[in-house]
Amino acid sequence: MRAALLTGFRQALELTSLPDPSCPPDGVVLRVLACGVCRSDWHSWTGSDPDVDLPIVPGHEYCGVVEAVGPGCRGWTPGDRVIAPFILACGACPDCASGHQTICAAQAVPGFTQDGAFAELIAVPHADANLTRLPENMDPALAAALGCRVTTAWQALTDRAALAPGEWLAVWGGGGVGLSALLLGRALGARVAVMDVVAEKLAFAKTLGADVVLNAADADVQERLREATGGGAHVAVEALGIEATTIAAMRSLRKLGRMVQVGMPVGEHANMTLPWDAVYSGQLTIHGTRGMPGHRTPSLLNMIDGGHVDLTPLIARRIPLSAASAELAAFDGPTPPGVAVITDFTR
Ligand SMILES: [Zn+2]
Ligand SMILES: [Zn+2]
Repeated sequence: MRAALLTGFRQALELTSLPDPSCPPDGVVLRVLACGVCRSDWHSWTGSDPDVDLPIVPGHEYCGVVEAVGPGCRGWTPGDRVIAPFILACGACPDCASGHQTICAAQAVPGFTQDGAFAELIAVPHADANLTRLPENMDPALAAALGCRVTTAWQALTDRAALAPGEWLAVWGGGGVGLSALLLGRALGARVAVMDVVAEKLAFAKTLGADVVLNAADADVQERLREATGGGAHVAVEALGIEATTIAAMRSLRKLGRMVQVGMPVGEHANMTLPWDAVYSGQLTIHGTRGMPGHRTPSLLNMIDGGHVDLTPLIARRIPLSAASAELAAFDGPTPPGVAVITDFTR
């Protein structure tokens, strides 16, 4: 199969031919239809993700067509179009049994602990516990983008923070997961403020329905947000993974507010210095979140299929496999709005 291989940190991916993956006993092999390029891929590209051993095929947000089925997999047959969460839970441990697949200790994560979907084929273990059938009419590029950023935002808002209609949601960081939180937050009946330092992203967030957009670099950003929201947000989402936005997210909450750390803090940001006086005096709740259990995918697909949210504006660029390296390198600086999805694996 044709694949893009990460052989050295911060180096261009090697476009190469690899042996087709063998089918896991309880899994499937998918022919990849589309795979998103995500900031988490950039973390592994830079070498800051401790889970990654080289060489590896990156790519963790994908959809595909079932090509082969292992003897222990009951629910899928060749030809099925499916989507997987980026956390492939074992489906058999006590955490999985209690519905908390994202904390499964035996989880596999394509692109990090096993080869991912920057390739024509991907092996997906534990297929019955993780895969969901795609609606007939769903664009593969959109379906792929659901696998990480949209599902993460859906879990953060509906499970961790339990965002309620009529509340104010403050989204710090207007990248893929931030824009997903904006669109889903609006669909859930919240009013949404988006903060970023890139004017182009703020303008884009405005076109997607943001009630308020503010430049996070402005000295009076918190004051203006408090004014706009009548005292601060009920829920804040940190969607970048760095100290400055985490502090800003905590400080943007009204009393009894809930914050969700969605961005992945690595390197110098792994040990942030945070204003715990704000947590104490504001009686705040701080949630961590990572991914979404596969059993919650149908709720999201149903929301989309019912026409309650249009996520297609998230897809900014459809690229060939050979353009993935440039997309990864671009995460070094402020990126243009929207997400890039690999849809052509032949060049
Ligand atoms: Zn991702
Ligand atoms: Zn498990």
